[in-house]
Amino acid sequence: MKRENELKVLNLLRENEFLSRVDLTHQTHLDAKTITNLIRSLMKSGFVKTAGFNPPSGGRPAQKLQLNPDDLYIGLDLGATHIAGVITNSKGSINNSKNIEISADEEKDSIIQKILEILDFLLTDIQHKRVIGIGFASPGIIDRQNGISVYAANLSNWQNVPIRQILQGKFGIPVLMEDCSRTMGLAEKVFGCCKDVDNFILMDLGFGIGCAIFNNGVLHTGATFDAGEIGHTIVNSSGKICRCGKRGCLEAIVSGFAISKEYEQRASPARVFDVKEISGLAAGGDVVAQDIIKESGKYIGIATANLINLLNPEIIVFAGGLTKIGDLLLQSIYSAINEYAYQDSLKAVEFKNSVLGDYGGALGADALVMDKVFEFSCLEGKR
Ligand SMILES: [Zn+2]
Repeated sequence: MKRENELKVLNLLRENEFLSRVDLTHQTHLDAKTITNLIRSLMKSGFVKTAGFNPPSGGRPAQKLQLNPDDLYIGLDLGATHIAGVITNSKGSINNSKNIEISADEEKDSIIQKILEILDFLLTDIQHKRVIGIGFASPGIIDRQNGISVYAANLSNWQNVPIRQILQGKFGIPVLMEDCSRTMGLAEKVFGCCKDVDNFILMDLGFGIGCAIFNNGVLHTGATFDAGEIGHTIVNSSGKICRCGKRGCLEAIVSGFAISKEYEQRASPARVFDVKEISGLAAGGDVVAQDIIKESGKYIGIATANLINLLNPEIIVFAGGLTKIGDLLLQSIYSAINEYAYQDSLKAVEFKNSVLGDYGGALGADALVMDKVFEFSCLEGKR
């Protein structure tokens, strides 16, 4: 019961800049004595601090309370092309951030060094401030219990990396892990465009393809925490072999890696182009580049239509590097959705582009740590 009341107070303080004890008594419907005791205990544990007094309005001036502005949270997001890191306050406002590029075939030790470099940077000049934890968004398969990145199809040298042990060992800060598409979805739920939405899907369209499914307000994880692998659903049974070993996966056709490979095969360019370059070629009138992007959009649209038919979401959020291609890709996605989605469900769904940008995954990893303090109702299961 005490924890339940504590969470009411903490979350009200998260949603408001300052509140007095009287405000908290009114908004929680708890009695004044309970609030006094809760605040005493939260000040002792350091999560709540005083912030001066409200101007007097007749009676005694009320002491203002706030979340400890010196509590910090870190989120890291490991992708196939970059590592992004943020350090935020208790409300998710970014104090500092850093992004370092990597390549899909980069050596494991080099990736670890870059992760440490980002953390060193984020932890510079924090003085007496307290870091509550580090959230780590990892691609592929994760052993959450032991804090190990087990396997990532899009990072060829990234296997069995004991990331928690490495980071906790060096920084002495707790480390939590989650799949990178899911942290992008979590960021939308906690900070982004789906705060008050119970049923939504975030499509992570990047070097790999994933999704985060929020069903009745809760992140869907599945029986063995593997739910959401939309990239490995079959959209063309006679299609290409995917890096997961199966034939015809969405990711084998439309990921950043696949698009780059396809252009290489069809146009035989003098060197390998990445998606950003191929997108630029398409904009400049390169028909091969345009065709590949349109086909990719079609298959993403088919997969999205299947999700709409299966889950009847209120919102679909498109996020990830491929969305930077812009209208050419998005128009063919929408056109395929219109063709293949069940019309009744299609009428109910709204499409959005993430506004969290390159730090969406890192912000979601940050929210994973915040969950340990604020216990968001959208997360279930041990991490
Ligand atoms: Zn696959």
